[in-house]
Amino acid sequence: MRPFSYVRAHSVDDAVTLALADPASAFLAGGTTEVDLIRAGVAHPDLLVDVNELPLADILELPGGGLRIGALARMSDVARSRSVVERYRAVSQALLLGASEQLRNMASMGGNLCQRVRCPYLRDNVSPCNKRHPGTGCAALEGLNRGHAILGTSEHCIATHPSDVAVALVAFDAIVHTIGPGGPREIAIDDFYLLPGDTPEVEHPLEHGELIVAIELPPLAVARRSLYLKFRDRQSYEFALVSVAAAMEIREGVIAEARLALGGVGTKPWRARRAEAELLGMPPTAERFAIAAAAELDPADVREHNAFKAELAQRALVRGLTSAMNGGV
Ligand code: SF4
Repeated sequence: MRPFSYVRAHSVDDAVTLALADPASAFLAGGTTEVDLIRAGVAHPDLLVDVNELPLADILELPGGGLRIGALARMSDVARSRSVVERYRAVSQALLLGASEQLRNMASMGGNLCQRVRCPYLRDNVSPCNKRHPGTGCAALEGLNRGHAILGTSEHCIATHPSDVAVALVAFDAIVHTIGPGGPREIAIDDFYLLPGDTPEVEHPLEHGELIVAIELPPLAVARRSLYLKFRDRQSYEFALVSVAAAMEIREGVIAEARLALGGVGTKPWRARRAEAELLGMPPTAERFAIAAAAELDPADVREHNAFKAELAQRALVRGLTSAMNGGV
């Protein structure tokens, strides 16, 4: 066991100040990922700054019709919030399909956004892994890569982002609110997740000591009839091979708005913008859905074990669109 220090923050400013005082500090919320990584020897903070006492767990209605979800709101509370269920249905469904009930009761929304990838080579603490030790290589490229990404990959990392709810949040253009050494900041969620490129160890644009305080969902009428589908090896407590968040509005016989995002296939929660572009202004037919799905998955960077994901993702998109057309059922 590697020793580390622990301190409780009593305000947001206090948390930022405490974290900044130690370059090897980390925030602790639900701890459902952080503690695992410390036990595995993958994360080794010198100081844990516990933020659980901070007043950041509320779910607030915003004047313009949006929703502000506190970063410390627990996954299970957000999933069952009436506002979320009624107005951002895919967010609720994605949360309920993630992890287990026990984990959802502990895990915070801010922590969920920051969770590390589930690549076994990252967590075994032995294999070459550019995320754990930059420059050492990527064992997954030639190893077991069935669960790995086919979109947004680089020669340095092909790990899939594991969050379910982030997929729905990306589809709805959520905004991440932070407070850090430079004061408050708003980050569009699509910019919050960085592609691996040459620096896979850098996953977010957060500075050291910058704390997520809230996630804002903008007003979005089409999100009421949205849905989240998840395909995985078993129906409980398992990460997605492919998932899809979908919402669609049809006016006068053509698709007036489409929101699509994929999980399980991208190195970040993947907004399917090419598919969306193929849908707008077109009649909602099975043929058009297939064209849109093919556009998003071409090209896909498939490997020996995960080539099946390209077809599975296309089928998932078509099914998601078909369900969205029928009102999300
Ligand atoms: Fe590490 Fe990424 Fe390669 Fe997995 S895919 S071994 S996380 S560099």
